[in-house]
Amino acid sequence: MCEIKKNAYAKINLGLDVTGLREDGYHEVKMVMQSLLLHDTVTLRKTGEQEETPGIRITVNDPALPTDRRNLCYKAAERMLSAYGISEGISIDIRKEIPIAAGLAGGSTDAAAVLTGINELFSLGVAEEELMAHGKQIGADVPFCLMGGTALSEGIGEKLTALPAMPAYPVLLFKPDTDVSTASVYKRLDEKPIEVHPDIDGVVAAIRRGEPAGVFSRMGNVLATVTEEDVTIVPVVKEKMKALGALGAMMSGSGPTVFGIFGTEKAADDAYAVLKKEKWKGRLIRTALFHV
Ligand code: ATP
Repeated sequence: MCEIKKNAYAKINLGLDVTGLREDGYHEVKMVMQSLLLHDTVTLRKTGEQEETPGIRITVNDPALPTDRRNLCYKAAERMLSAYGISEGISIDIRKEIPIAAGLAGGSTDAAAVLTGINELFSLGVAEEELMAHGKQIGADVPFCLMGGTALSEGIGEKLTALPAMPAYPVLLFKPDTDVSTASVYKRLDEKPIEVHPDIDGVVAAIRRGEPAGVFSRMGNVLATVTEEDVTIVPVVKEKMKALGALGAMMSGSGPTVFGIFGTEKAADDAYAVLKKEKWKGRLIRTALFHV
């Protein structure tokens, strides 16, 4: 095999709480992660060349993204080539569909696709647990992206517990035309006490009971208080989605993407048609919850 194509799925958070700050500066989190059908496509090819330094070439359809070491795919490839003594060069083509710096783990999921892609391309037979350990070194969301589906994420994001799948509800995403830096959102969160913690245990229990209504009534994201100060459209979109019939609507991750989960395809289509007419600056996407 000399080429492999992977779908790299986006994620949203059905709940996000920050429970502490460790001495090393990392935040302790408690998050409910959920994969979306929305995905980038990552194609890996062997170039056939033997290289002394890792021969990693990246192409991407979005000029805003770096193609050098700053790209998380580069970091993932470099790690795999050096850990398993591969001297052959590879090329990685990334077709982005997931908005960048959006709270949808776009970079992390591409990196996860490179880890599994290289494992398959070179028939390395590396176990998932070992890939997870590599992923953790690249970014806190990479281990979840390797796993996919629905999961509780604790610790600094590395402690994952798989949860029963949520139904494949249709989802609308709105990504305002403002990029948000995850690091700066966490930094600002540290400057003020968290007043209301979302009921993550309640969300998890409702998922385990197979009661989506209990999930939607408890969804919450502590990072929204910070991001909403700068990106004031976030609460506006959230309320509009709810008014248009979303069962639940919230900001994902550090934002600024807002998602709305709808009960039927028709409800999502109707809401899409109305939202499309808004003069908001940003990107509206129709997708769905996804389980692997
Ligand atoms: P998270 O939800 O994990 O916080 P995010 O969706 O907010 O992630 P990303 O889309 O992963 O953010 O992008 C964050 C930064 O990572 C951007 O500044 C971008 O330049 C960089 N980056 C590096 N590699 C990639 C990649 N393959 N795709 C997207 N962003 C990447």
